[in-house]
Amino acid sequence: MSGQRTQVLVAGGGLVGLTTALVLRHHDVEVTLLERRASTSPQPKARRFHVRTMEIFRELGLAGLVHEAARELAGHDHMAAGRTLAEATQLPLWQPSGDVPEVSPEPPCLVAQDVLEPVLRKAAVEAGADVRFGTELLGFDQDSDGVTGKLADGEIRADYLVAADGARSGIRESLGITRSGRGAVGEPSVNVYFRADLAEVVRGREFNLCQIDHPDASGALASVDGRRRWVFMAAGGETERDWPTVLRTALGVPVPDLEILSVLGWQAEMLVADRYSAGRVHLVGDAAHVMPPFAASGANTGIADAHNLGWKLAAVLRGEAAPTLLDSYDTERRPAGWFAADQSARRADTFRVGTEDPTLAHPFVLAAGGFQYPAGALVPDGSVEPVTEFAPAGRVGTRVPHRWLDEARTRSTLDLAGPEWTVTEYEGEWLLLRPDQVVAWRGASAEEAESVRAALLAGTLP
Ligand SMILES: Cc1cc2nc3c(=O)[nH]c(=O)nc-3n(C[C@H](O)[C@H](O)[C@H](O)COP(=O)(O)OP(=O)(O)OC[C@H]3O[C@@H](n4cnc5c(N)ncnc54)[C@H](O)[C@@H]3O)c2cc1C
Repeated sequence: MSGQRTQVLVAGGGLVGLTTALVLRHHDVEVTLLERRASTSPQPKARRFHVRTMEIFRELGLAGLVHEAARELAGHDHMAAGRTLAEATQLPLWQPSGDVPEVSPEPPCLVAQDVLEPVLRKAAVEAGADVRFGTELLGFDQDSDGVTGKLADGEIRADYLVAADGARSGIRESLGITRSGRGAVGEPSVNVYFRADLAEVVRGREFNLCQIDHPDASGALASVDGRRRWVFMAAGGETERDWPTVLRTALGVPVPDLEILSVLGWQAEMLVADRYSAGRVHLVGDAAHVMPPFAASGANTGIADAHNLGWKLAAVLRGEAAPTLLDSYDTERRPAGWFAADQSARRADTFRVGTEDPTLAHPFVLAAGGFQYPAGALVPDGSVEPVTEFAPAGRVGTRVPHRWLDEARTRSTLDLAGPEWTVTEYEGEWLLLRPDQVVAWRGASAEEAESVRAALLAGTLP
């Protein structure tokens, strides 16, 4: 099996590796994805996908499929709280104060990771990616022309390698890329994933997360399918408790069919790689950043990495852009990773200690991509997007604000760009939108936009 060749080799078939493969196929790039596990993740882990992720799936033609896969948790947006599940009540939905613009053409989506990953895997295969589960990348070498991946049955040569190999990324470690950040945030936790038919118990007060305050069984209960699959999250990190008894206490009902599927101890961490790129290798997802789950930003940030990197790799591989365009991946996504990780860590602090932090980003800012690139493949105009309020205005380095383009509300400004660039008029000025819907330039003339685009791709702007 030696002598295999592809344009981009992706190591890791989690949410972010699979999305990377999909974005690359969307741009017509040959891609081979290696995943060492035989199947997608059996753990539900991430469940909340923000509007920005759904916009990326919309561009890939997958938003409908993802919403369809998410139907079991449709209507489970509320939080709930009580001494036990039996006594819990649904809390009102959070509503933004003031007159806030409509955020997105896509609603956010609650879907468990173990449900979403198979949808993405199937879509990646159908889009023409060479997706190989049960295949580990054992090592790699890079030179000035490409990367050689070592597999158990031979080698594979690629122009670029994308490391989507998770928080313990062997690729990151072998490149000697260090990480910075706060490290551990808060106490260790335990996630108890269990099965029990609670459909009748929760009917009419469905929830995303239910806070349980029982003195002998405090924790949070997360809906995985809203009927039979649940995760109970307890602080303290002690995995060896009598979980059936703890769960029955927390639930406040007998649950004769209770079955524990797994007990996982974990520690929330905030760490960001000190470089996202090394030669022809680029880090995405948890390989590049880990963050506490309280802002539901880990996978969402990784999916945005894939969206940013994908069009740049495609433009370079097609010969439309100078290889220096790829330097902008680190310039843009590393500060974005810091922003998401810092916001997540500070949300974890407020969650734990119960204090207010006035510098926390507005929830819609996080949901809509959340970060203004101050530099990168764009022409900065000195504008600064606020983060504590949601006031998108088409500033350079932000995703274009959503506006419906037709009365039927089917086509959004977000649909104007991707996979191509576009020039559009917005509130009296011309905006140059990159394939990832980020404003690269704004100015008075549409003609100028074309020369700016050429210069950005050629890397000839000062
Ligand atoms: C309790 C919890 C709740 C969370 N909730 C949310 C949420 O609501 N929203 C959100 O956005 N995020 C959430 N997250 C974070 C989210 O789960 C992660 O950020 C996301 O799964 C990372 O995806 P990834 O593809 O980068 O990495 P992973 O999912 O870790 O995938 C990496 C893959 O690479 C494979 N691999 C590793 N090395 C190799 C190799 N050498 N060759 C081949 N394959 C290899 C691994 O087998 C693995 O499948 C949560 C996390 C936790 C723990």
